[in-house]
Amino acid sequence: MSPDEDAVPRRVLVTGGAAGIGAAIAARARAGGARVGVVDLAAPNPTDLAAGEVAVAADVSDPVAAAEAVETVAAGLGGVDVLVNNAGIAPSGRLEDTDLERWRTTMRVNLDGLFLVTTATLSHLRRSPHGPAIVTIGSIAGRTHSRTGSVAYATTKGGTIAFTRQLARELAPDGIRVNCVCPGLVDTEIMSRNVTPERLATLVADIPLGRLADPAEVAESVWFLASPAASYLTGSVVDVTGGLG
Ligand code: NAD
Repeated sequence: MSPDEDAVPRRVLVTGGAAGIGAAIAARARAGGARVGVVDLAAPNPTDLAAGEVAVAADVSDPVAAAEAVETVAAGLGGVDVLVNNAGIAPSGRLEDTDLERWRTTMRVNLDGLFLVTTATLSHLRRSPHGPAIVTIGSIAGRTHSRTGSVAYATTKGGTIAFTRQLARELAPDGIRVNCVCPGLVDTEIMSRNVTPERLATLVADIPLGRLADPAEVAESVWFLASPAASYLTGSVVDVTGGLG
């Protein structure tokens, strides 16, 4: 057992855990000795799961599907100690290019999904004897501005930060910590979908550390905030941006 490995495996629910940053978070939790449950539109390949893990295909923005998915994960893992709200979309487009449909889809996935999954998981976290914690995934877009997304995306990520801070106060008396990680520019599909190689080169030139983040580097901060080592952190917003501000 490595020094940071769980003596009693914590049960970790990761939304959007089939790809990108979410898959890296699931892998980091696994490496730390946790048991992982993934909720994603497309369930991960079963061969990517370890024994005793659970994967559910569900849309986090669908109230019924989200609640059912949380219950399936909680039943499969025997409870939930850590919730990582990672699922998200980042449609690009200036305000004039954003119709109501695109606006609402972005709000629905990034904010309704956050609300629905957190609400459905709360009773399980309250029963956790292992220092229950919630980690949300914000973005530099919600801290300063979006380099790749849109007004709609930046609005949801600002909302995610406000949600985190408010919920941290609400749940502190119950011993449930709530923190947010704000990545900068990370090497995932969201990035390659939204940005041409030329634009990417310009963006990278602006990053003080001179490169995109590897998803594993974001996962490391998420895992720290979820862990007992972060027992005095709640309501924190941690930038993982390579110095980009
Ligand atoms: P990604 O597109 O690589 O992966 C996102 C995952 O979420 C996918 O597996 C997808 O199927 C899932 N997902 C999307 N909508 C869903 C829904 N409605 N229900 C369930 N699952 C859904 O994206 P990523 O880069 O890994 O992004 C993960 C999170 O990190 C997002 O919240 C994103 O806003 C945030 N983020 C990413 C970056 C970046 O540069 N990649 C930067 C800042 C913040």
